Amino acid sequence: MQTKLADFIKDTPQGKEADAILRSCVHCGFCLATCPTYQLLGDELDSPRGRIYLMKQMLEGQPVTEKTQLHLDRCLTCRACETTCPSGVRYAQLVDISRDIIDKQIKRKPKFGILRFTLRKTLPNASVFKSLLKLGQLARPMLPSKLKDSVPQKPEHVGEWPAIQHARKMLVLDGCVQPTLAPNINTASARVLDKLGISLIKSKKAGCCGAVTFHLNEQQDGLGYMRRNIDAWWPLIEQKEVEAIVMTASGCGVTVKEYGHYLRFDPNYAEKARKIAVLTKDISEILHAELEKIKQLIDQQITKPKKSKLSFHSPCTLQHGQQIRGLAEGILKVAGYELTLVPGAHLCCGSAGTYSILQPELSQQLLKNKVNALETDKPEQIATANIGCLVHLRDGTALLVRHWIEVLDERLSS
Ligand code: SF4
Ligand code: SF4
Repeated sequence: MQTKLADFIKDTPQGKEADAILRSCVHCGFCLATCPTYQLLGDELDSPRGRIYLMKQMLEGQPVTEKTQLHLDRCLTCRACETTCPSGVRYAQLVDISRDIIDKQIKRKPKFGILRFTLRKTLPNASVFKSLLKLGQLARPMLPSKLKDSVPQKPEHVGEWPAIQHARKMLVLDGCVQPTLAPNINTASARVLDKLGISLIKSKKAGCCGAVTFHLNEQQDGLGYMRRNIDAWWPLIEQKEVEAIVMTASGCGVTVKEYGHYLRFDPNYAEKARKIAVLTKDISEILHAELEKIKQLIDQQITKPKKSKLSFHSPCTLQHGQQIRGLAEGILKVAGYELTLVPGAHLCCGSAGTYSILQPELSQQLLKNKVNALETDKPEQIATANIGCLVHLRDGTALLVRHWIEVLDERLSS
């Protein structure tokens, strides 16, 4: 694609990146077929190609309008278009650059500005989020039914975190909302890894990966969260005390794996961020490397549980963002589960960070379609790999929805 970027951006590092990305798009339109918002709305401007065209116009100096902002707001940043694109267009990086420019020029209506501000101040702060959720749970009986459904019940029983006893050690990110909404995910991960001879450790100083704030367009604040995590992890990495940083939420995983990109212009953090990104692994990658040991553990079990059907929802941040496909599913099969076929498995469930709150109508349509797809083959339960998808799916189905590591932990403990 030919480009002629405007003076305000063309010589900046972001302008050069945006120019290279725009030029790599050949306008073939293959990406339209896999874009969830194009499927729902049928408008070219709600497709990747249409949005790329809108961003190009803006970067070439044409006026930024509320319409540009609306079509980019409706994008889930699910990155299905990146998976489909034969030209390797780095859509997500282009959209990050563009949203920053748009939001500096177009003020949102006060109610949306306040909502985004509230989300930025509560979600990434684990202790604030925990306190608010406790208040919500206390008030739950008095809430109208629609609001009641959005306040989760008290979390299920959380088992023991095993003692740190192995020479092999890995760090795990606790994140922001996961410790409150589903604390068993990381303890289940610690128990499974312990059985494989790996001790999982947490750093109390690390917290939100920075994605929520960055994608709500407070990009500098988002980078601050990333630097804080790097500072928390660096001493253990420098002393080679841990061999990997494990992600149990694929939404955090995709972000931490891209720390090197986010902090590329920061001379104090760029190199550390790059090293941390290399050490970061999704829990499915870690366990896939230990598959033989998992098979042995399953074979050694005295009671053989009956085969049961399970539907796996692969989050966009796992299959498109990290390009990881089939690993968790393969491990669950080894553990004796029969995985159902899920039509349209490449499509987003509508959770997408804060999208379910900011774009509720589109999000609910995607949720309905996803739940129908997951329930097609009558599974007994649903498993996924990201806290956002997990909570969102629970909203749309009566089936049990868990992180797949909890399913494996249960099987290995039976
Ligand atoms: S598939 Fe890739 S190259 Fe083709 S229009 Fe979409 S983004 Fe552009
Ligand atoms: S990121 Fe997802 S919603 Fe956005 S344009 Fe690409 S496929 Fe469509």
